[in-house]
Parts: sequence; C-alpha cells; structure tokens
Amino acid sequence: MADIQIKKSTVAGKGAFAGRNFKKGEIILRWKPKVISAFEAKQLSNAEKHYICPGLANEYWLMQKPERYINHSCAPNTKAKNGADIAIKDIKKGEELTSDYSLGNSLTSFKCNCQAKNCKGFVKASFFIKT
Ligand SMILES: [Zn+2]
Repeated sequence: MADIQIKKSTVAGKGAFAGRNFKKGEIILRWKPKVISAFEAKQLSNAEKHYICPGLANEYWLMQKPERYINHSCAPNTKAKNGADIAIKDIKKGEELTSDYSLGNSLTSFKCNCQAKNCKGFVKASFFIKT
C-alpha cells in the first residue's frame, strides 16, 4: 500500500491521507514539483493555478500529486521543510495530512474550513492553494 492515499476530504475536495503510521519528524514525502516560468504560470487554468507555489526569482513550482492534495489546517500534522513534508506529530494510518500554509509572506488568502479548535477562520497563504 502506498504511504499516501488520495481520498475525499472533510476539509476541501480531495485530501491526502496517511497510508501507514508516521513517526514525529519522519519525512512523509519529498516534492517533485514541475518548475515553470512566470509566463507558463499565467497560461495555466484557474484550477491548476491553485497548485502553484512561488519558487526562486522568476520561477514557480507547480505542485504534483500527491503533495498538491495536502490541505491547509490551523492545527496541522505536517510542515513544509526543504522541499518535503515532515510529520510534526505521530500520525496514524488513515489520518488526513494537513499543513499550515499561513507561514511566511502572504500572496493570497482564503477561508479556512479545517474545523480545528484554534481555527483562525481565514488563511493568508504564501503557499500553493487548494480550494
Ligand atoms: Zn482553520
């Protein structure tokens, strides 16, 4: 069975779920983004634009599967570090994988639906967005 499974999410659309148990600090997956230019980014459909993350200088990262399905949560169980998603707590098989997109410089914002007790209701995101 794959480490990550894509299923219908309770947060938004599709989500990424743990296909096995992960220990705190473990790398869940390394991204393999497609590097595209600002020009190419503008040509994408609105749906695809949700998966763009600013890269270096004039380049953008178009997030691929399964990392593009990791939803935002105000109480996340993973964090983005060095081009990978890392478990920040022990994660049980079947749990939805979430990340806090509100860290760093904000490029855009969206309404949060994560249902965490400490949900801020709104996210200023610096990261690729999924709605
Ligand atoms: Zn929230």
